[in-house]
Amino acid sequence: MAGSATPMMAQYLALKAQAEGCLLFYRMGDFFELFFDDARIAASVLDIALTSRGEHDGAPIPMCGVPVHSAEGYLARLIRAGQRVAIAEQVETPEEAKKRGGSKALVARDIVRFVTAGTLTEDALLEPRRANVLAAVCELRGVCGIAHVDISTGYMELEECPAHDVTAALARLDAREVVVPEDWLEAPTDAIARPRAGFSSDGGGEDLRRIHGVATLDGFGSFGRAMLAAAGGLIAYLEHVGRGTMPLLLPPVPRECGDTLAMDAATRSSLEIIESSQGGRAGSLIDAVDRCVTGAGARQLAEDLSAPLTRKELIDERLALVAWLHDDAILRGDIRSALRALPDIGRALGRIAAGRGSPRDLGQVRDGLEQARALRDRLPGSADRPALLDRLLPALGGHGALTDLLGRALVPQPPTERGQGGFIAEGYDAALDDLRRTSGSARRAIAALEARYRVETGVAALKIRHNGVLGYFIEVPARHADALMTPDSGFTHRQTMAGAVRFNSLGLHEEAGRIAEAGGHALAAEEAHFEELVEAVMAARMAIAATAAALARIDVAAGQAERAVEGGWTRPRIVLESVLQVQAGRHPVVEAALMANRRSGGAERFVANDCMLAANDRLWLIGGPNMGGKSTFLRQNALIVLLAQAGGFVPAASAVIGLTDRLFSRVGASDNLARGRSTFMVEMVETAAILSQATDRSFVILDEVGRGTSTYDGLALAWAVVEAVHETNRCRCLFATHYHELTRLAESCDALSLHHVRAREWKGDLVLLHELAPGPADRSYGIAVARLAGLPPKVISRAKAVLDKLEKGRAQTGGLAAGLGDLPLFAAAAEAEEAQCDILRDRLQALDVDALSPREALETLYELKREA
Ligand code: ADP
Repeated sequence: MAGSATPMMAQYLALKAQAEGCLLFYRMGDFFELFFDDARIAASVLDIALTSRGEHDGAPIPMCGVPVHSAEGYLARLIRAGQRVAIAEQVETPEEAKKRGGSKALVARDIVRFVTAGTLTEDALLEPRRANVLAAVCELRGVCGIAHVDISTGYMELEECPAHDVTAALARLDAREVVVPEDWLEAPTDAIARPRAGFSSDGGGEDLRRIHGVATLDGFGSFGRAMLAAAGGLIAYLEHVGRGTMPLLLPPVPRECGDTLAMDAATRSSLEIIESSQGGRAGSLIDAVDRCVTGAGARQLAEDLSAPLTRKELIDERLALVAWLHDDAILRGDIRSALRALPDIGRALGRIAAGRGSPRDLGQVRDGLEQARALRDRLPGSADRPALLDRLLPALGGHGALTDLLGRALVPQPPTERGQGGFIAEGYDAALDDLRRTSGSARRAIAALEARYRVETGVAALKIRHNGVLGYFIEVPARHADALMTPDSGFTHRQTMAGAVRFNSLGLHEEAGRIAEAGGHALAAEEAHFEELVEAVMAARMAIAATAAALARIDVAAGQAERAVEGGWTRPRIVLESVLQVQAGRHPVVEAALMANRRSGGAERFVANDCMLAANDRLWLIGGPNMGGKSTFLRQNALIVLLAQAGGFVPAASAVIGLTDRLFSRVGASDNLARGRSTFMVEMVETAAILSQATDRSFVILDEVGRGTSTYDGLALAWAVVEAVHETNRCRCLFATHYHELTRLAESCDALSLHHVRAREWKGDLVLLHELAPGPADRSYGIAVARLAGLPPKVISRAKAVLDKLEKGRAQTGGLAAGLGDLPLFAAAAEAEEAQCDILRDRLQALDVDALSPREALETLYELKREA
């Protein structure tokens, strides 16, 4: 096929083959051009014109292009739309190409880098308040290794988990890209397949030792083989994407599986932790909680909320810092205003390490480190200072030599472009100052020449000007040109324009030469200083990253304290017993929405409710009308557990939180219509996960489970699930249901109690009180809710008549749950089944198969089948 291609197309196709599924940005002068399907995709994503250029195999080649100078904005949109892009640059000048291969030679091009969602460092392409995670996953004998890194800051973690937990772990990471070995069949969908060879544990260990210049990784912690294999895959991908330049990687931190509160993907999305169900941050938990003043703080908070802790001492340590800042408004205000002025040093460092740093990034590192030290010096050294702060403070200082160097070397506001120079401060390098003085004096000399030539020629309109093509030249209006045209005038003609004529002179030539030479040397000197400064920063990169992390942690704590003051939140008490005792708890997102409503004239207030789960009353069955506030109550308690274990205050009057190992949230099928699989199937798969994984330390909320199927099926399943949760899992659980029949479970389950959200009919209208009360719901109010929703009166009265009939029928027959009275207890039923199995097993074992005649064998089989 390439046989018919022009040389350019042949070059393009060869590069495209290396681009491996990425769109190819092919540099042509001032444009990046895209061809074929790439052009179609880009034109539709970017909404730019699709044209064509030449022909390939007899058909026009679709093409579109974006200007190089505004390529970043287009790149950002393509990345956001889920594309990856390979950038092919011209790697020689047209002159070099001619020298190499004659006048027709094609300029050589090569892919210089890949831009992918997981490997961004450019400020313009990153969201300031969100980490940008790249993950690599692989499986080694049933154990999954996960390596993940935020390239924009270099923070890297390695973890291992059982294969069935890998989706939950990835859900926690919310990675932009996931890479996996190409031959892994159970890889998560959307993952990028990479050569298996990269995922080797020996190779991964070797890579990490090389990158960090250590003989052993023991100093960083202990790492399993699957972790190292994943690290190998991650590093191989980074090398591929960066075409050899490695981004910043901090020493890997090992993470233990049980270190964090386990939540699977369904739980995370149903609790809307980082993203609301509509997508986006608005309406999510983090949106209602985040009061951080720095991007790094917001990223840390997102990580805290995605991975709450499970060790009491670590949680208490965070809480103590929040409490300290909560109680001292002046100090908190001080810290927050200091942090607000801080540049994002973590990300500046990331760009510098990736070889894409600018003088401005160096300036940000300088300012950030200086301000960090100033912040440290302002914090009081009182005896009650929390231990966590004592541990963080040393990381804020210790950069004296570096900030001194950067302070002397850089101008106060260094530019983002380094090609133009002008970022090294005066006084830092005497030779550079000399060069600058030379070009300064030459510029003054040129100004003096201009004045002199005006006098000598008598042309007052004479000007000395500069442009990129001619350099410096003398220009006079055309009608005065004759005065300069005489052979002995000392001027040589250069160019005649419409209305003006341009000249050169020996004096001007000399001065211009001085400027060019001095300027060139000055630029080279600045470039050399830039490299030295980058090296100095890189040498301190671990310590700088530690400073950035400490600042982020302080920002999170101060933000949590601020939020707590603002909303009247309280410090939770973390205990080891299996309790959950929340007094006057609120849902942070629903409450914030109601408050926003009130500001625009709404009247509703959030009604606070208690949740008092304990070992002997660990399962609450909650009934009451639709829209009564059941879901809200369930979720607010899950969120309170999550917030508390993330180390923050909670929206309640008081809260005692029994340390929780796993959190599950499930919503009945019909709320989840957006999914592809049969929704009832999804509901059951998710419920199965709870029944197999919840422990007596877990907290589970189940919202209308069973409603995705027919009434009888649904009730039966809900019944069996409640029993299993009560008897087998023995976890703390809130179960919202509209099956009135389930209330009979209170008779057989001793740690289960009945509750309902209150409602009243008042003058024929339904009033939802959103208030939780003990005892079963007296009735369902479904028809009243329907009226509230505006169903026509005719339909309402017809429904009432039908209901009347149904209820009469129920009274006569005993209703839906008739006959359940003699249902054996769940445990007893399970035991009976187990006992029957034992009997069958014993009999099978006792059989001497060899001694049976065929006829006897058949009879025995029939017998066993009858008994089974
Ligand atoms: P249910 O699950 O019982 O159908 P929801 O929890 O979805 O009810 O609540 C319905 C609506 O009622 C919510 O969108 C919210 O606006 C309001 N609501 C719920 N709980 C409260 C509360 N405690 N205080 C005030 N309003 C509430």
